[in-house]
Amino acid sequence: MPDLFIDGHWVAPAEGGTRMLTCPATGEDLTTVGEATETDTLAAIDAAYRAFADGQGEWPQTPMRERAALLSRVADILRRDKAAIAEVEALDTGKRYVEAEYDVDDVISVFEHYARLGADHDDAGRTVETGREGIKSRVVKEPIGVCALITPWNYPLLQASWKVAPCLLAGNTFVLKPSEITPRSTIALVKALEEAGAPAGVANLVLGTGPSAGGPLSTDPRVALVSFTGSLAVGRHLMAAAAPTVKRVALELGGKNPNIVFADADREAALDNALTAVFLHSGQVCSAGARLLIEESIADQFVDDLVARAAAIRPGTPFDEHAQTGSLTSAAHLRKVEDYVAQGLAEGARLRTGGARPDDPALADGYFYLPTVLDQVRSDMHVVQEESFGPVLTVETFTTEDEAIALANDSIYGLAGAVWTTDEARADKVAAALRLGTVWINDYHPYVAPAEWGGYKQSGVGRELGELGLEEYQETKHIWRNTAPAPSGWFA
Ligand code: NAD
Repeated sequence: MPDLFIDGHWVAPAEGGTRMLTCPATGEDLTTVGEATETDTLAAIDAAYRAFADGQGEWPQTPMRERAALLSRVADILRRDKAAIAEVEALDTGKRYVEAEYDVDDVISVFEHYARLGADHDDAGRTVETGREGIKSRVVKEPIGVCALITPWNYPLLQASWKVAPCLLAGNTFVLKPSEITPRSTIALVKALEEAGAPAGVANLVLGTGPSAGGPLSTDPRVALVSFTGSLAVGRHLMAAAAPTVKRVALELGGKNPNIVFADADREAALDNALTAVFLHSGQVCSAGARLLIEESIADQFVDDLVARAAAIRPGTPFDEHAQTGSLTSAAHLRKVEDYVAQGLAEGARLRTGGARPDDPALADGYFYLPTVLDQVRSDMHVVQEESFGPVLTVETFTTEDEAIALANDSIYGLAGAVWTTDEARADKVAAALRLGTVWINDYHPYVAPAEWGGYKQSGVGRELGELGLEEYQETKHIWRNTAPAPSGWFA
């Protein structure tokens, strides 16, 4: 299968490996794609390294404005091919087609954001005031080199775009490895880069499993940066594997995100958004609001209503127009979610709804799991502290603002979360106290490309999107020019 893109050519894996992709919502076989091994990844790193050529290659030497223009062309191609890309994304992941369409729109806006950021860039850099006669000092940004971009299966194309767009804008070359189970939208993205005119060797794509195809990406000395989105366990492994060659590491890991509702909140908005916070894309969202923290005085009725609405959510296959949510993305992931719920119940949580696969025979071949609500939990339970990455909400109550903050911060993670209240001063106070990379006040989930995204604590290292998302892919050089050189006299 010529699905790998190495040095400007579509090639089959050297060792002939293949993988059958299956739609997780229907169990149907979709197509076969190539499955790379270390040999292919080393060839891809080699191509990227030659194309970068210590910063003297065609792409790093192209002015940023021209690189930005390529990103604009990519956005146009993605817009043109939106329906086809959304279709493969929905079938690979099991999400609804309409959700995959939203994803492609988001991806287009990411490319457009970075195209704008680079459009009026001045490559001359920043002048520094040294306070000394005859000195011209400036600080310039340069590309870092070969970047390894490793992405997960929940938002395959979106997560790739957060890396590919700034990586290219900065003038780097890359080897991209998507999740082995959802690669087709990423193949489409690399085709768009090829069509838009990325020079050979700049954009390389390998498909395959983490340990095999991904292995060299964190260890090869020619790779300068590893940007990874995925699980905490793999992130820790990659950080350690990258240490001997002192690579820069950018990690977007998991979250166990608090959604705090005070008694004075707009009840209907808070209730409705508490559902989307956790059940959007069946909870397979790194920022899912999986921990509801609710003020005790309103908890009983609020949770009763939430449970009733959760029980009414209709799961379905990607093109089912009546479906409100899709499936989980793999059998292994379904088992993991089932195990978390079983463990929570064994630890004493109470099941309010869900906790099972749907009984609709039409969904029997898919990896569906019903929206699930557990209350009477304690914050030290596994199901509260660990990321299930499924449609599982736990409910804790609080009586004071300080208690809400303490509960929310009682986590090894620090990705995102929300506070619902009509008291503006309280909203500001709580937002400031939360150790999270994103805080929503009276909202949940929106993000925009110009604002940085990333986690505190073990949710990650570095930021994607925004201006910092570009700086992740840049080196900083200080150039000091003495226009009137003279002996220093130090050892005279
Ligand atoms: P995962 O960690 O299992 O895999 C992610 C990617 O890493 C895949 O491409 C996988 O093949 C690759 N990989 C695995 N082992 C590797 C190795 N040794 N070397 C190189 N590559 C390797 O994660 P997943 O199950 O695909 O995705 C779900 C996780 O992603 C969740 O924990 C979720 O929170 C996280 N996530 C985080 C964000 C964020 O912005 N913080 C966004 C989306 C997903």
